[in-house]
Amino acid sequence: MSMDVLDLGGRPVIVGGGIAGLMTALHLAPEPVLLLSRSPLGADASSTWAQGGLAASLGEDDEPALHLSDTLAAGDGLCDAQAARRIVYAAAAAIEDLARLGVRFDRTPAGALRLGLEAAHGRRRIVHADGDGSGREIMRALVADVRSTPTIAVIEGIAGGVRAAIERARSSVGHLVKIEVEVDTLAQLEEVLALAPDVVLLDNMSIDELRQAVAMVAGRAITEASGRVTPATAPAVAATGVDLISIGWLTHSAPILDIGLDYSEF
Ligand SMILES: Cc1cc2nc3c(=O)[nH]c(=O)nc-3n(C[C@H](O)[C@H](O)[C@H](O)COP(=O)(O)OP(=O)(O)OC[C@H]3O[C@@H](n4cnc5c(N)ncnc54)[C@H](O)[C@@H]3O)c2cc1C
Repeated sequence: MSMDVLDLGGRPVIVGGGIAGLMTALHLAPEPVLLLSRSPLGADASSTWAQGGLAASLGEDDEPALHLSDTLAAGDGLCDAQAARRIVYAAAAAIEDLARLGVRFDRTPAGALRLGLEAAHGRRRIVHADGDGSGREIMRALVADVRSTPTIAVIEGIAGGVRAAIERARSSVGHLVKIEVEVDTLAQLEEVLALAPDVVLLDNMSIDELRQAVAMVAGRAITEASGRVTPATAPAVAATGVDLISIGWLTHSAPILDIGLDYSEF
């Protein structure tokens, strides 16, 4: 089911199309919900990559209290005991929910869940699906369920990153304004330069990074240094060859500013 994001009709909005988002939407059904996913469902979710299994006290020799005690022992003081308790006590029902939703867990010839003994667990309690493709199999089933549930509206592919933003700005107002893109690293700068921005804002870079950035830009865009610049460091920043310097430090620290402005068009 597809819909316009401006026409929500009061329904809850779920942001994210990984296991958490998909399960939330399915749990709420048949209440109408809108699920937003940055990419096509499953495409960039960590969930699809999860290779290991899911732990739950499902064996006949096991119980949640044993799972909890193994978990707290392995956590060695780092676990929030209450959160761990809630999770391990809910784990068996979560596996059953997933199986009911169509996840094909690995099973014994007799049809029981195949339970693995792994890591710090003292009982066989790790469930896999499709071997080490557990996340992929769970996502396959949940995406299919979400797509076939009429009360779940999905809007996917809602962001295309910097490229899409620049193209959109350029096609709507590009003739009126210059397009400035902020980067924090030289790797980001390299990516952004391929999109031919008018101005690049080099944020929080060291003097050495600024020097490298100016060399990388090589006159293809206006460069602006910003972040961490103070009147004391401004001369060194200027010596890197950047075109513009923003010194927010002045406005944060001075109670009154009297500034003579030179206007320049870029
Ligand atoms: C290689 C790998 C192996 C792993 N192995 C295991 C394992 O064996 N066992 C285990 O329990 N866990 C494992 N994990 C961790 C597990 O995959 C994650 O904890 C879990 O999948 C998180 O699910 P999620 O739904 O919260 O996030 P995700 O699956 O990452 O989904 C997040 C969703 O939000 C969307 N999104 C992000 N930003 C925005 C935005 N601004 N607007 C709209 N949508 C947005 C993304 O597109 C994505 O759809 C592993 C993770 C990785 C990467």
